[in-house]
Amino acid sequence: MPLRDGFDRVIDYLRISVTDRCNLRCIYCMPAAGIKPVQHKEILTYEEIVRVVRIASNLGVRKVRITGGEPLARKNVTFLIGAIREISAIEDISLTTNGILLQEYADELADAGLDRVNISLDSLKPERYREITRGGEIDRVINGIEAAKEAGLLPIKINVVPVRGLNDDEIGQFAKMTADTPYHVRFIEFMPIGATDFWNEGKYISTDEIRSAVEEVGPLFPVKLRKNGPARYFRFENAPGVIGFISALTHHFCGDCNRLRLTADGRLRPCLFSETEIDLKPALRDRSSDRELERLLRLSVEVKPEGHNLGQRRALFSLRAMSRIGG
Ligand code: SAM
Ligand code: SF4
Repeated sequence: MPLRDGFDRVIDYLRISVTDRCNLRCIYCMPAAGIKPVQHKEILTYEEIVRVVRIASNLGVRKVRITGGEPLARKNVTFLIGAIREISAIEDISLTTNGILLQEYADELADAGLDRVNISLDSLKPERYREITRGGEIDRVINGIEAAKEAGLLPIKINVVPVRGLNDDEIGQFAKMTADTPYHVRFIEFMPIGATDFWNEGKYISTDEIRSAVEEVGPLFPVKLRKNGPARYFRFENAPGVIGFISALTHHFCGDCNRLRLTADGRLRPCLFSETEIDLKPALRDRSSDRELERLLRLSVEVKPEGHNLGQRRALFSLRAMSRIGG
């Protein structure tokens, strides 16, 4: 029996933040000095995470994404991937990374059973990349993408957040990558969420506007992928790669939502944009039964809201940073 929420959406996807720490400081995500990290003892152990995944898989979860903070900045993530791979009901394991450490880990991640990676890259210009990430070296990301390709972590998905005045002049360049590579380049609307005061309405670019910039390169044709999730996909004529649009604020997003999030400190978060969280840590640490954890998982599905009201694009800076929630 699949897990269904109150709005008849099937919940089969768990995104797990394994750390709130990061080796970059993207200007739209974190302050320059970083965020005070959660104490080590508050972070779920890999054993605790695996237990949650096992119980969730008994309830119908089939896909897991490992994220952060920067997941590759936590020691031995490969162990976690391997342990989740042992859970037979989990069909798909993916990882979202900034790619800085990917060259180092791609092979061992693939060997451990990781299926694929999403890599965040907001500029193709080394100097600008350094500015956006406050010090990141783009060559490491490019090498990481190559290594992921060689390791078979496919399809390679590249996530770009266009921000007006920062990188919006590169939308066409990113889109052109799909003309000669099989990459999935996905444009994500800049969301009013995070631990910085960087967001403002003027910097936000809607999917419609991003799409117009892409169409200046050439006409787009819809692509039906096996599982689209919240993205809508297109391609240029005869292109090997595809272009996705993720409209967090505008268009269809909530209607297709199939996910729960688990924060690094053990809170189940049914919706990215709602502060409702259910803390699993006490139950995990006081030897509660699997049945009790199952109850908490079901509860978080029950309280999952139908949608967000960010249509009005009000800022939500009181929310946890993306790096805390698990983007
Ligand atoms: N560190 C990893 C990375 O950057 O891929 C994983 C965590 S990061 C929080 C996940 C994604 O969230 C990244 O693609 C990042 O661009 C995105 N993100 C962070 N803040 C965002 C915001 N305010 N609006 C849209 N996307 C955001
Ligand atoms: Fe780190 Fe990812 Fe946030 Fe950038 S977007 S600061 S890489 S967590």
